[in-house]
Amino acid sequence: MSNADSTVGVSTNAKTKNAKARVRTLTGIPKIEMSEIPKETLALWEKYGVGEADDKESFQKSFIRHVTTTLARSVYNIDNFSAYQATAHTVRDRLIKRWNDTQQAHTEVDPKRVYYLSLEFLLGRSLDNALLNLGLKENYGEGVKELGFRMEDILDEEVDAALGNGGLGRLAACYMDSLATLDYPAWGYGLRYTYGIFQQRLKDGFQVELPDYWLNFDNPWELPRLDVTIDVKFCGTVNRYTDETGKVRHVWVNEDKDTVQAVAYDVPIPGYGTKNCINIRLWSSKPKRKFNLKRFNEGQYEQAVQEQMEAENITAVLYPNDNHMVGKELRLKQQYFWVSASLSDIVRRFKKSSKPWDEFSYQVAIQLNDTHPTLAIVELQRILVDLEGIDWDEAWKIVTNTFAFTNHTILPEAMERWPVPMVQYLLPRHMQIIFDINLFFLQAVERAYPDDRELLAKLSIIEESTPQFVRMAHLAIVGSHRVNGVAALHSELLKKTIFKDFVRYYGDEKFDNKTNGITPRRWLHQANPKLSELITEALGSKNWLKNLELLKGLKSHVDKVDFRKRWVTAKHSNKVRLAEYIKKSTGIIVNPNALFDVQVKRIHEYKRQFMNILGVIHRYNALKKLTSQERADIVPRVVIFGGKAAPGYYIAKLVIKLINSVADVINNDNSIEDTLKVVFIPDYNVSVAEIIIPASDISQHISTAGTEASGTSNMKFVLNGGLILGTVDGANIEIHEEIGDDNIFMFGNLADQVDDLRHAHRYRNIPIDPSLQAVINDIESGHFGDSRIFAPLINTITHGKDYYLISDDFQSYLDAQKLVDEAYKDKEEWTKKSILCSANMGKFSSDRAIQEYAEQIWNIDPVPAKRS
Ligand SMILES: *Cc1c(COP(=O)(O)O)cnc(C)c1O
Repeated sequence: MSNADSTVGVSTNAKTKNAKARVRTLTGIPKIEMSEIPKETLALWEKYGVGEADDKESFQKSFIRHVTTTLARSVYNIDNFSAYQATAHTVRDRLIKRWNDTQQAHTEVDPKRVYYLSLEFLLGRSLDNALLNLGLKENYGEGVKELGFRMEDILDEEVDAALGNGGLGRLAACYMDSLATLDYPAWGYGLRYTYGIFQQRLKDGFQVELPDYWLNFDNPWELPRLDVTIDVKFCGTVNRYTDETGKVRHVWVNEDKDTVQAVAYDVPIPGYGTKNCINIRLWSSKPKRKFNLKRFNEGQYEQAVQEQMEAENITAVLYPNDNHMVGKELRLKQQYFWVSASLSDIVRRFKKSSKPWDEFSYQVAIQLNDTHPTLAIVELQRILVDLEGIDWDEAWKIVTNTFAFTNHTILPEAMERWPVPMVQYLLPRHMQIIFDINLFFLQAVERAYPDDRELLAKLSIIEESTPQFVRMAHLAIVGSHRVNGVAALHSELLKKTIFKDFVRYYGDEKFDNKTNGITPRRWLHQANPKLSELITEALGSKNWLKNLELLKGLKSHVDKVDFRKRWVTAKHSNKVRLAEYIKKSTGIIVNPNALFDVQVKRIHEYKRQFMNILGVIHRYNALKKLTSQERADIVPRVVIFGGKAAPGYYIAKLVIKLINSVADVINNDNSIEDTLKVVFIPDYNVSVAEIIIPASDISQHISTAGTEASGTSNMKFVLNGGLILGTVDGANIEIHEEIGDDNIFMFGNLADQVDDLRHAHRYRNIPIDPSLQAVINDIESGHFGDSRIFAPLINTITHGKDYYLISDDFQSYLDAQKLVDEAYKDKEEWTKKSILCSANMGKFSSDRAIQEYAEQIWNIDPVPAKRS
């Protein structure tokens, strides 16, 4: 059986009284004019429509109704988890109302929309966020209390939606919060993984991975749209034919067994202080044919189930690699599955307005979050040329005016490239189109730079190796009208290094910077309620939550002793909260009066957690040499690590093991009298971050200069009044610019020195820094357990050319740490720094970033939902 391009599968349910008018659209909004509905019907809707109030009593009524009917429980068998579910369902009801009103407003205005395509949305928990954004926290808190529960316990029952690896996925989540808050008509598109990022446990100090089956219990934060299904094709062949106008056209045909169905699940994202609630549509894969009955009848039960399993496989798991490409066929299938379903949906929504195709890019902006969705460029060209019969050049103009591309890294191992034979097999028509895009692009380059064959090879979308590869970043640049990096240094480096030849061809206007941001709602207001309250009191209103520049107003409070005292009290209670969490999750007892020194982020060589733990060993050895009297002068430190290593990243996993081995020795050495503790907090994720970040005195962002595109946790820490110890890299540089020299500890070689240093390591014999050598000797002596385990890790410095330049930065790192120790001794001065940190972080709100994207790239305007 073969299967040519079919239209989007819209299930209709038209057999009602008002059949013509009741055709449902995919957004669930009926295409029905107000005037067509009988007055009496409207009156009934008005009378009984969802309009549940936000007061305490309405909450309690709704809570009890959900316990009774949704959960089928009663006052006699309700635990914290059911209380969470009932509260979540009560909030969900209110969210859906806002979601509907927002979609209604968008339908009426039909504005230009932005679609944010991200393979990851690291949302974390939703209940607390929704309560705060909707302004329900206080009333509902009292409501649950009267019913015999504590809101904190209820909030703690929720499992994270962990559909992302780290910074990139969390950025997408912060951006959705800002898009909703600023009333922009925006949609997110992603995948609904059955298993999110793995859960991390420690066994003998080694990371072990457990599956994250987050959908085990019902998920109140999604609306299944089982009627919104889209067929996605794979494999098959391409046939050429001549159409009725004499034009040569292509049709892609495949077999039914190679078609998979995408089912939509909608995740409402409420804005803060607005009725707007936008949508992330996540696709889940299902077999198109439910079950192979023929095989079953032939007694081949397993084969009959196999097709089903293969289809469901596509969205089964999130690939757990951060900044590292692994060329698995299933990953490419995920990418096309997602891109194809999303574009069908976007194109269908555009077609509802009956506007001509040349208006497409005035109605639709699509942002590519990294190269993962780059096939969308090819898919839109295919839809326009093959399905809609538009001429190639005209179609290509529409495509390039629609897309914009965000690059997230210059690390070579993270660059996506797919083998041409793999693309050819899975997506034969797309491969043809990619070759054509490349041909026309290179022809244009050749006209501009005749006979510059080297330039052609450098710019080509196809890497001419054996086999050939498709370079996704090249395709993304050629198919977009705008390309941006995520911090000033990163965007500059892109233009000077990996995209240099593209700048030469296109000119520099196509390339710009959009420095990342974070949402102050989650990362200060929600994660740090005590500090948030103090800030609101000092500034006289909550307006700073929508206009973060207002934090500048805190500067006038720096010299008030009482304000500083309250600032310290808030920080201290956060440290107590973290100390309790550390005890619960690791058994280690830490002193909240110690200096909390934090490095939490994915474990990666370029982030240099290795350098941090080597520095800890150096500190430990120095402490051991002191007399008890000398030690009395030392500010005690708690060094806190957290982060997951990709399961296949051997060196990163050794770093985790080393941290835990060092922690074991130090934490059990009474001779240093609690002047140093080392903690590895397992399973770092968004909700753990919300506990750790507000409690930090200093946090480390110490990547080799030029390797961290931006970083966003640096922003979270400083916003919460934590100082940073960092290299001159990514957004650290811009944070430094905003908060000033006195409030940050910077060290290390600069990005423009990195090439020369690497060259020297490669071709000359550079002696290792003596302090570093002493630490390495200590590990090799077996002081921290069997040193043979750590040999491959140590070799990265001693025999591996020290690619991340730990030996070059080590002394400067130790010096900076000394300055931190000194500065912390003056508590009053430190507190002033802490306040000035928060006060100067206005720039790093994701609202600012989103406004820049909206105005400079997407060209979209806000559409506030009607208040009803
Ligand atoms: C913010 C965040 C990150 C990104 O951290 P970086 O230090 O910028 O790499 C990663 N994981 C989680 C859970 C986060 O909240």
